Amino acid sequence: MNLLQIRKASTSFAMPFRHRQVAGKHLLTNTEGAFVLLDDAEFTAFAEGTVARDSALYTRLRERNFVRAEVDQRAIEERIRTRKRFMDLGPNLHIVVVTLRCNETCVYCHASRADMSATHTDMSKETAEKTVDLILRSTNPSVTIEFQGGEPLANFEVVQHIVDYALKKNEKVGKTLEFTMVSNLSLMTEEKLKWLVEHKVQMCTSVDGPEHLHDKQRKLPSGAAALPLAGHAHAVAKHWIGRINEEYARLGLDPTLYHVEALLTTTSETLPLWKDVVDTYVGLGCKALFLRPVDPFGFAERSGGRVEYPRKDYLEFYRDAVDYMLELNKQGVQILERFAAIFLTKILGGEDPNFLDIRSPCGAAIGQVAYNYDGKIFTCDEGRMLHEMGDDTFLIGELGKTTYRDLMGHETVRAMAIASNLDAQPDCVNCTYQPYCGVCPVHNHKTQGSIFGRMRESTLCAVHKGIQDYLFEKIASGDPHVIQTFQRWTTVRDRTHFLQTCAL
Ligand code: SF4
Ligand code: SF4
Repeated sequence: MNLLQIRKASTSFAMPFRHRQVAGKHLLTNTEGAFVLLDDAEFTAFAEGTVARDSALYTRLRERNFVRAEVDQRAIEERIRTRKRFMDLGPNLHIVVVTLRCNETCVYCHASRADMSATHTDMSKETAEKTVDLILRSTNPSVTIEFQGGEPLANFEVVQHIVDYALKKNEKVGKTLEFTMVSNLSLMTEEKLKWLVEHKVQMCTSVDGPEHLHDKQRKLPSGAAALPLAGHAHAVAKHWIGRINEEYARLGLDPTLYHVEALLTTTSETLPLWKDVVDTYVGLGCKALFLRPVDPFGFAERSGGRVEYPRKDYLEFYRDAVDYMLELNKQGVQILERFAAIFLTKILGGEDPNFLDIRSPCGAAIGQVAYNYDGKIFTCDEGRMLHEMGDDTFLIGELGKTTYRDLMGHETVRAMAIASNLDAQPDCVNCTYQPYCGVCPVHNHKTQGSIFGRMRESTLCAVHKGIQDYLFEKIASGDPHVIQTFQRWTTVRDRTHFLQTCAL
């Protein structure tokens, strides 16, 4: 890009904007989250306030509220209200850790799993009922109960009890309920599967990529799975993903909408395998891949050097993998990347998909709450993970002692809402990606010793910035196939089958 010759910047032409150079263009964003990409001459005219009123550029800028004299205040208010709709509702996601026991040992385990003999980490039925009682106090008319662990199937009886109890109790409360379970699937049986499908519990698993990598990173001791496949974590997961998808098909559900999704944790060994990872997910029938970097929680910290990597290497991996996914989409294969879908929904769709870790303010307690097996309550699952590492900063209550109002008004919750409000974050406030981004106070606290953090040194900021740079580069390329695919990735997947309502 040439050095710009801006003779005299106008102080009256432009509305407030933020600006960054991407793919040889000037990317401008504003408070409502609209953007324009300008070339040098266009940007110079914009900065000098000399854009001709009858030009196509003027129309483009006016339509996106970049021209002060033509600003549509109502439209700005409406768009911000749409984006921040989640602020009116209260916590939707309620993570219930029914046990810490797990039969797999993963190098990066964020949950700090316990051995299968540690039955003292099982949630009791009494605690489970108190958990549901509190969950149903949420001001949000829609509530998702997500079973986590450890391995939730290791305490299946309590999973069943929570579902039955919540459905019964909801007859008098009338919320829209959804149940999901994050499981390695190795303790699944045909009997459990039948029950889960009948009770509309959505299932999600973890797949680290190709078989050799998955089996190396997620050790499943022989005898730990109810199958001849015992000892082979990948084969076990593949078997049950296939069986669950068969059950959905048997119910007549559209397989493009209803299928098992899997989560990836990217370690240093994953980086060169970007193509194998994508191929593995496509081969398993997954329609989405979430290229999550490893988090600094749980055993990942201990394994540190073995699983960690510089974020610039991660971003190269990300670019290679998503380029390949775009190529596959061109050939008719439907596979999307989750980070991209979250950002694109905000960038292209003007909506916020309410992903709790990338929104402003973040979802800590006001969007999600985590309930531990022992009745302790945390702002989010990541806060609960730090508790397992001996840090109680994000502990906000205890079942039977703390009310819903106490939780929402807790001083830690208020501090986190301020710390994750990008209008108050020193680096974010001037960042071009501020309308679409999010910061994580737990990550800041863990890696930088303050919930506010310093974004210019944050690995999470590096990931968010790098991904948004990539997406805007692709948008700037104007390739119609890429734009079409990106538009498709912003479409919200239908989940009506899993929504359980109860007329009062
Ligand atoms: S603190 Fe971090 S993990 Fe917790 S809800 Fe906020 S962004 Fe998500
Ligand atoms: S986290 Fe980083 S990329 Fe996101 S708005 Fe803040 S400074 Fe920008």
